[in-house]
Amino acid sequence: MSAVRAYIGLGSNLDDPVRQLRRALAALARLPETHLAGYSRFYRSVPLGPQDQPDYVNAVAALDTTLDAEALLDALQAIETAQGRVRTLRWGPRTLDLDMLLYGNEVLATPRLTVPHPGLAERSFVLYPLAELATDLALPDGRTLAGLLNHCDRSGLEPLTHGDEPGGVIS
Ligand code: ATP
Ligand code: MG
Ligand code: MG
Repeated sequence: MSAVRAYIGLGSNLDDPVRQLRRALAALARLPETHLAGYSRFYRSVPLGPQDQPDYVNAVAALDTTLDAEALLDALQAIETAQGRVRTLRWGPRTLDLDMLLYGNEVLATPRLTVPHPGLAERSFVLYPLAELATDLALPDGRTLAGLLNHCDRSGLEPLTHGDEPGGVIS
């Protein structure tokens, strides 16, 4: 099987979010049958849902993998668990969220997995980092990333200014 390009959304707002994202990227790079092809800068974003929680740090990673989509989801959930993710409130605070945004050009709807990720098209903290990795991307339904960005409010989203989250070069 040839490798599929998958995009993963990373988010954290607990227990040193920048460190959580760095650890998660290292874990993604170690996945079997998978090459971490690149990742975006880190962004700070205001929370979705309950507002009485800290801001998030978000990024997007590009993977080339021969894992099937369910096996990749298993791997993402194992990384979340290893980094202390506790499932409580919907959209509540978390140490790590890893969402499968895209899995090649596939459309999947199983009890465990909806791909493209249902929030992808309207979430600025997904679309802007994704655009760093794939400017001419289109969704399986033909909508382009450029078109989605045109309709996406960027308020509440800022690249982190630490200067030490360079983003990875795509390869
Ligand atoms: P949202 O999905 O709106 O960003 P969330 O990330 O907080 O919310 P989670 O608690 O991380 O939601 O995941 C809930 C369930 O979503 C998981 O158990 C998983 O089976 C399912 N799921 C469906 N599609 C996906 C996907 N594309 N990526 C990750 N999880 C998914
Ligand atoms: Mg999520
Ligand atoms: Mg999730």
